[in-house]
Amino acid sequence: MSQVTDQIKERVDIVSLISEYVPLRKAGRTWTGFCPFHSNTRTPAFTVFPDTQSFHCFGCKANGTIFDFVMRREGLEFGEVLQQLAQRAGVELKPRTEKDDQEDARRARLGEILSATARFWTHLLLRSPKGAAAREYLDGRGISAEMIESFQLGYAPNEWSATLAYLNDRLNATPEELVAAGLALERESSGYYDRFRGRIMFPIHDGRGRIVGFGGRAMGDAHPKYLNSPQTDLFDKGRLLYGLYQGREAIRAADHVVVVEGYVDVIMAHQHGFRNVIAPMGTALTDEHAALLNKLTHRITLAMDGDAAGRTAALRGLETLREHLDSHAVPVPTASGMLRWERELSAEVRIALLPPGRDPDDIVRADPQQWATLIDQAQPLLDFYVSALTSDLDLTGARGKATAVERLQPLLEQIGDPVMQTHYIQKLAALIDAPEQIVRDAIQPRSSRPGKRREPPQPQAGPRQVLIALEQEAQREDYLLSLLVRHPQVRSQIEEALRDDLAASPALRELWSGEIGELFERVENRVLWDAWRTAGPDGPPDPAHWATTLPPELQEHYDRLINAMNQPSRTYKVSHEAQECFQPLRRRLAQRWSQRIGQLIDIAQSEEQERLLEQAMALTSYLRMSSEPRRSTYFHDSRDSLKF
Ligand code: ZN
Repeated sequence: MSQVTDQIKERVDIVSLISEYVPLRKAGRTWTGFCPFHSNTRTPAFTVFPDTQSFHCFGCKANGTIFDFVMRREGLEFGEVLQQLAQRAGVELKPRTEKDDQEDARRARLGEILSATARFWTHLLLRSPKGAAAREYLDGRGISAEMIESFQLGYAPNEWSATLAYLNDRLNATPEELVAAGLALERESSGYYDRFRGRIMFPIHDGRGRIVGFGGRAMGDAHPKYLNSPQTDLFDKGRLLYGLYQGREAIRAADHVVVVEGYVDVIMAHQHGFRNVIAPMGTALTDEHAALLNKLTHRITLAMDGDAAGRTAALRGLETLREHLDSHAVPVPTASGMLRWERELSAEVRIALLPPGRDPDDIVRADPQQWATLIDQAQPLLDFYVSALTSDLDLTGARGKATAVERLQPLLEQIGDPVMQTHYIQKLAALIDAPEQIVRDAIQPRSSRPGKRREPPQPQAGPRQVLIALEQEAQREDYLLSLLVRHPQVRSQIEEALRDDLAASPALRELWSGEIGELFERVENRVLWDAWRTAGPDGPPDPAHWATTLPPELQEHYDRLINAMNQPSRTYKVSHEAQECFQPLRRRLAQRWSQRIGQLIDIAQSEEQERLLEQAMALTSYLRMSSEPRRSTYFHDSRDSLKF
């Protein structure tokens, strides 16, 4: 097969193929455009490399050949894309081989065995004395006869080889075939036994309604409570969703799908007319699941247990959130409350929080109208995150406000749509009762292009506010410079800290000189510092006289730094406060570089990209390491005692 695909790759021009979907612009030897697989409008992160006949998105990391591109873009299987591209390339596909036919026959045989098994188990559930307890159980849960039939529920008897014997007798199935179908296991000694015993069985259908596997729920206290088919040629739980076959038309008609956790939740919802409800098979939603759903609808609601576990899970996602700072992943909570990171789904994801401790099953059964209301009132995913990530904070205090911004920053940064981003910036600003601009500055640092730097606003500040994460960065700069010119020892302290940072990372050394001036973005501060440090090893010998030689605008600024800024009362406080200013400034420097590298990667040629990627990774790990300001081992940390 590889020969055919190579031929096709040679004959189909990747640039013209992709151009039919995405406008591309030539950049060096590559072509760039906006990625069709994640929403991006600011930087064209999607790159096509004609030399290697491949594409790569530096935003969401989607990559591959023309085959991958068309499969993903069109939502087609490989075989279909092969046909399509072969035709385009004028390449003739080999006729089906005998081996292909054998493979098809084998899969058909497995399918036949699985259907016969489902019929056998349904028969036992409905008519055999062995199924009495299972019938009672389903009755107790209120599952109707209609649903038992529609979902083909069954009962696997609590015997070691009843199913094996039945299939052997009925279909002449060999133990090897039953192992391949996921129905039997081989004993270590010798012989085979039934995988599913004493369980209520839920057949799992593929998109065309064929049974490809089973989920089994234990009766009583047997472990595990739920047991699924193993991975087989037919059963891949990452590509299957329970209830999707039965709910497909309803999902399309409602243009909406609701994801729950359990099979019984799905059945009960369907029973009460909510047929757009499905469940993954004990896993988080995968990219393949998302692709399956996206063919039917772009509106996904995840029904989650609203108890503390769900919220804790959401908070645990915070660490992951930081790790994904630079990618375009979006967090997707699963029905079970676990978080998973997805490449950006082209879907509107909402979270329906259920009353604590209650399953969809029992809500639907007790009050279908309540279920409808809960789903109607589902929050957009981002709203859910805003409340989950701030619910433990005191938002009336400065510390709480700063923490709220810090936690939500990575999330807000990832919102590609500027209108939506503004909406959430306003929301966060209202939540912490702060001016929108402060939040916006924290989310989108000002442009740092040399020569085009805008003058940041200059509110007066005391040293305490300098410590607040929300506070304007300009004040930190000013205060650090004021400490530098008034206390010569601060210079060696900061220079040493910068040297340590660079010593640890060769990739950072390619970007930073380690000079203090790099920390400053305010033009006055840069110029003033440059004049100061070149005037002598400890600054100018006679600062007062030196100041008179400065241009008038700088004199005024210098005056303010010397006279208007708070004077630390003790020498040890000088070092400490310098450190407090320095930490966020060097973080900001690293963030700036992250941005720049991101932009460079977009236009870089392939040989440069590896180096840029290395630098980007060094910056990411540096930012992660420095996310908590270091605490001094010598000095009392004022963060412990300051009350805001
Ligand atoms: Zn992308």
